[in-house]
Amino acid sequence: MRTQVGIIGAGPSGLLLSQLLHLQGIDSVVLERRTPGYVLGRIRAGVLEQGMVDLLNAAQAGERMNKEGLVHDGFEICFGDRRHRIDLKELTGGDTVMVYGQTEVTKDLMDAREALGGLVIYEAENVDIVDLDGETPKLTYRKDGVDHEIVCDYIAGCDGYHGISRRHIPENILKIHERVYPFGWLGVLSETRPASDELIYVNHWRGFALCSMRSTTRSRYYIQCAFDEDLEEWTDDRFWDELRARLPNSVAENMEIGPSIEKSIAPLRSFVAEPMRHGRLFLAGDAAHIVPPTGAKGLNLAASDIHYLSSALIGYYKQQRTDLMDGYSEKCLNRVWKAERFSWWMTTIMHRFPDQNSFDRGIQLAELDYLCGSQSAQASFAENYVGLPY
Ligand SMILES: Cc1cc2nc3c(=O)[nH]c(=O)nc-3n(C[C@H](O)[C@H](O)[C@H](O)COP(=O)(O)OP(=O)(O)OC[C@H]3O[C@@H](n4cnc5c(N)ncnc54)[C@H](O)[C@@H]3O)c2cc1C
Repeated sequence: MRTQVGIIGAGPSGLLLSQLLHLQGIDSVVLERRTPGYVLGRIRAGVLEQGMVDLLNAAQAGERMNKEGLVHDGFEICFGDRRHRIDLKELTGGDTVMVYGQTEVTKDLMDAREALGGLVIYEAENVDIVDLDGETPKLTYRKDGVDHEIVCDYIAGCDGYHGISRRHIPENILKIHERVYPFGWLGVLSETRPASDELIYVNHWRGFALCSMRSTTRSRYYIQCAFDEDLEEWTDDRFWDELRARLPNSVAENMEIGPSIEKSIAPLRSFVAEPMRHGRLFLAGDAAHIVPPTGAKGLNLAASDIHYLSSALIGYYKQQRTDLMDGYSEKCLNRVWKAERFSWWMTTIMHRFPDQNSFDRGIQLAELDYLCGSQSAQASFAENYVGLPY
C-alpha cells in the first residue's frame, strides 16, 4: 500500500490530522494498536480551548459539540475559607472554554473519518517505522496474522507517550525534559448533577480537589492522592467522604453523589521531547509532550500541534512550500513550553507537596491571595487558561 501521510495512533491527534488532510485531498492511513472500543473507553480531558473548538469545526467534526458542549465563562478557585470566581470572559475580553469530553471528541472524529471513507486500521500490531532516512519511509505492522507495509512520503507520530515514534529520533539528537510529581489524581465519573455550573479548583490542606463535569447530568471529580495509591482501597463511599472533606461546606452539603461509573488514578508528569521533527517523521500530541492535567492543556496542546502540522503538510502538497515543515518543531515547542509553564505553575500552587513546610505553604497561600486580589494577575491567568493564540 502507498499513502502520502502515514499516521501512527488513532487518538484525537491522529484522527484530527487525518480528517484535516482528507478535506484538502491529501491521502493518509491511520494505524492504531487498540480496538475502537478501547480507545473510546479512556476517560481523559474535558475542557476545550476555543482554538480546538475552531479546529474541530474546520474538520467538520464539531456539530454535536456545538449542540451538547457547555460553554463556560469562568470557574472558581477555593483556598482556606475563600471562594473566588475567575471570570474568563470578562478578563480576556470575550474568550470562553467549552466543556466536552475527550471521549465525545474522539467519537465525533471517528464518525467523521468513517463518513468520508477514511482508512483507520485498528488492532494493528507491532507497528514500526523503517527507512526513515530514505525518500520513502515505511510503516510496517501485523494484522490478523499477516504482515503489511505502507510506503509513505511523511510519517506523523501521534501515538501518545508510550508510542514507538519518539524512539526513532536518534538518542544524540533527542532531548528529554521531565518532571515527575510526587502525587497523582484519583478520578471518578458518575451519573450525577455537577456540584456547580462551573468547575471548582480547590487547594485544601488535605490535598487538591477538582469538581468538573462532562454534561449537565454527568460529573467528573478528582482528588489528589499518593502516586502509588491502590485503587482497590478507594470504595465509592471513601472517595465521596474525602472529596467532600476538601470542598467548601456550601458545595459539599448540597452536592449529589452516586455510584461511580469509572474510577482511575493518573500520575502527574511534565515532559517535553525536542525536536518534534526528524527528517520525514513529525511528532504530535502526547508523543512529544505531557502536562499535568491541572491547567487542562494536554488535549489542547495536541490540537495546536495538529493545527501546525496539517498547515505544514497542506502547504507542502498544495503549494510546494517546505518552510512550514521546517519551522514545525520550533513553532510547536514555543507554544508547548508556555503551556508547560502554566500547567507546572497551576499544579504548584494548587497541590499539597509531601515535603511542603510552613514556609512553602505560606508562599502558596500568598500566591493564591495575590491572584485573587489582582486584576492583572487574573488577566494573565485567564489568558493562559483559555489558551494562547496559535
Ligand atoms: C489518565 C489521563 C487523564 C488526562 N486528563 C486530562 C485532562 O483532564 N485534561 C487535558 O487536557 N488532558 C488530559 N489528559 C491528556 C490528554 O488526554 C492527552 O493530551 C490526549 O489524549 C493526547 O492525544 P494524543 O492523540 O496525542 O494521544 P493519545 O490520546 O494517547 O492517543 C495515542 C494513540 O496511539 C495509540 N498507540 C500507541 N502506541 C501505538 C503503537 N505502537 N502503534 C499503534 N498505535 C499506538 C494509542 O493506543 C492511542 O490510541 C489526560 C491523560 C491521561 C493519560
